[in-house]
Amino acid sequence: MQRWTLLIGGRKIETEGYQDVINPSTGGVVGGMPLATAKHLDAAVAAASKAFATWKDVPDSDRADACRAIGDTIESHAEELSRLLTLEQGKPLNGLGSRFEIGGAVAWTRYTSGLSLPVEVLQDGAEGRVELHRKPIGVVGSITPWNWPVMIACWHIIPAIRAGNTVVIKPSPLTPLSTIRLVELLNEKLPPGVGNVVTGGNEIGSLMSAHPGIGKVTFTGSSATGRKIMQNAAGTLKRLTLELGGNDAGIVLPDAEPNKIVEGLFWGAFINGGQTCAALKRLYVHDSLYDKVCSELTAYAKQVVVGDGLSETSTLGPVQNRRQFDIVSTFVNEARDKGGRVLIGGAPADGPGYFYPVTLVADVDHGCRLVDEEQFGPALPIIRYNDVEDAIAKANATSMGLGGSVWGSDLGRARSVAQRIEAGSVWINKHGAIQPNAPFGGVKQSGFGVEFGVDGLKEFTTVQTVFV
Ligand code: NAD
Repeated sequence: MQRWTLLIGGRKIETEGYQDVINPSTGGVVGGMPLATAKHLDAAVAAASKAFATWKDVPDSDRADACRAIGDTIESHAEELSRLLTLEQGKPLNGLGSRFEIGGAVAWTRYTSGLSLPVEVLQDGAEGRVELHRKPIGVVGSITPWNWPVMIACWHIIPAIRAGNTVVIKPSPLTPLSTIRLVELLNEKLPPGVGNVVTGGNEIGSLMSAHPGIGKVTFTGSSATGRKIMQNAAGTLKRLTLELGGNDAGIVLPDAEPNKIVEGLFWGAFINGGQTCAALKRLYVHDSLYDKVCSELTAYAKQVVVGDGLSETSTLGPVQNRRQFDIVSTFVNEARDKGGRVLIGGAPADGPGYFYPVTLVADVDHGCRLVDEEQFGPALPIIRYNDVEDAIAKANATSMGLGGSVWGSDLGRARSVAQRIEAGSVWINKHGAIQPNAPFGGVKQSGFGVEFGVDGLKEFTTVQTVFV
């Protein structure tokens, strides 16, 4: 079994303790994650701080070139990264799986490399000149989840360093290895200390949130952890971007054509086995189409191949970990007990790995956790409605506000419904289709701040106004 190392100040660092990283398809051990201590974290922050002193003054075009070179190196190691990601995360190589994720990491890196934040002249006249400058913050602490670890690491690291910051990243202990490898590759293109990785348990994340040497934490993960980070960051008044959980609703309007939307609905919900922040997690369907949408979705689900991600024929893999598997099982069982009709799935087979079948549950409503809470797995509740106003009210009856979607043939009508959904992103006739030029973030308890595009880049800066 390979024991991996931390990467601090450009050097690989071994630790005393290691923790097994488990392949969720087989239960086998993929590798040993180094267990960092508070001292390792201090060393990483010190290295990042030292590197910041020069990186912040590197010409902007050189930082852009370095980010572009990182995009190229990720691309040239795409297959290696994809396999490692599949081994620890479970997602298949194919479909919307590891190769797709690494391709996304390259695309986001390249797009972000080309962004810049030139000085804005707010006023220039007899009354004087006023300029708005964007300054890097310093050391950015990045804390990432286990669902899209490589892509999310790039969403954090690339805009941070592009804007002149340096980074210490702490990946999820469930999927740390692909991030370690990513940071090794980054270090081939960056001065020592600009990108550092420390791995370990949740306590390293807590220490980062309170660390006086870290100026900003960018976090992607659950709302519960987001709250703790905000509390821990209060003592040092850190800047925060919090990309948290979601319970996205999709509303199918009476004029939708089920056969045309079924594929989009399915993958909107089941991308990465539903383990996606902005996946469709509650589907509201008008009574006039309800049975047709249920039967089309069931037929589509039947031909999806769930299996070990390393098999080239799999399009969905296992749930990533036992805890999430248990949440999905519990929510589905509870929905069934409350009268939910399981159209497909609902009963995991025995055997190695955390495989949970694609599951559709009809005739459910609010009042069960499969609808009210974030299932974050391959089980979709389908709720019947008669009045669109009622569907909008129910879509908004949640503390979450990440994404939402509306499905229908009259785009004007769909648009007016979409704009009434309380969410950071809304889609029409698709769900969850994010892109690097469009800001993405949550409202309500799905967090605050945005990622992507110029707005996302600005989050890694502070404003300095210069009055001449
Ligand atoms: P999680 O909150 O359990 O863990 C995320 C990260 O936080 C991990 O690295 C973990 O070690 C760390 N952590 C745990 N406790 C901490 C603490 N007290 N202080 C600091 N760090 C701590 O989330 P998860 O289970 O890994 O990911 C799933 C969740 O992430 C879902 O709710 C999903 O919706 C959300 N998510 C959101 C987005 C988004 O962009 N909004 C994207 C992906 C995932």
